[in-house]
Amino acid sequence: MDSVTNYSVYDVGAVPGGEAFLLVTAEKSALIDSGFSFCAERMLEKIVAVLGERPLNYVLLTHSHYDHASGSAYCKHRWPDLRIVASAHTAKTFAKESARRLMRELNVGAARLNGCTEWVERLDELTVDCCVGEGDAVSLGGMNLRVLAAPGHTRCCIMFYEPVSELLISCETLGVLAGAELVMPCCLVDYQLSLAALDRAMTMPIRRLLLPHHGLIEGDACRDFLRASRYWLIETRRRLREAQAAGKSDAELRQLFRDLFYTDMLRRVQPEQAFDINAGYSIPLLLKE
Ligand SMILES: [Zn+2]
Repeated sequence: MDSVTNYSVYDVGAVPGGEAFLLVTAEKSALIDSGFSFCAERMLEKIVAVLGERPLNYVLLTHSHYDHASGSAYCKHRWPDLRIVASAHTAKTFAKESARRLMRELNVGAARLNGCTEWVERLDELTVDCCVGEGDAVSLGGMNLRVLAAPGHTRCCIMFYEPVSELLISCETLGVLAGAELVMPCCLVDYQLSLAALDRAMTMPIRRLLLPHHGLIEGDACRDFLRASRYWLIETRRRLREAQAAGKSDAELRQLFRDLFYTDMLRRVQPEQAFDINAGYSIPLLLKE
């Protein structure tokens, strides 16, 4: 809990990899990302343990991936009046049966890894109540969040910025922390846009940075993260291209990426299957653009 400002942030994720953070102000509450489906009930218990009788008012989704968005349907079921806030792209993804099927399959894989065999299926209830984009505002009573479009990891990625406490709620377009000064690039759809999002963040005053799959970092660590992320985005691309020019095979390029980023820290929040899927998109993109 953070008592310096007029809000508190709690980690309410049920299992590693399905991180979700509860932002609570005196008036409102918002869940930032919502984890998997199979363990959503456990997350709801953690939310209730913080909120007590108060309802959850918002779910803010940084993007539509299964490990971030699946739990939102369970929150909506528990608190029907809450508003799920996400980009129009995310709403479009939720509306596709093929996307929901993929989310279901990936949740089954993650459930197996966590030894979970039974849960209530609610992914058909996935919905977005409030589509937001660049410049839109989300009011949590005394706290106003501004929406920043941040495509790069996916087309549907958004971030939220609170100028008074200089809090940036980031998304995976800014990378995922893999170790000390090591940030894994997660650009699955666009390298230049990912770089632009990082450059933009580096011009903003940021005292607190909420990192997906990690949590809140503060002070100089924010700048250090952004600098490391920018370095590794450019450097990974350079190393992959150099290796490709030297005649390395696709398997060798995948190994290069894996040796760099599949650290113990990353392994905790990203199962091998998810890492391989991400690398399968990131590597060709970094080679192409
Ligand atoms: Zn993602």
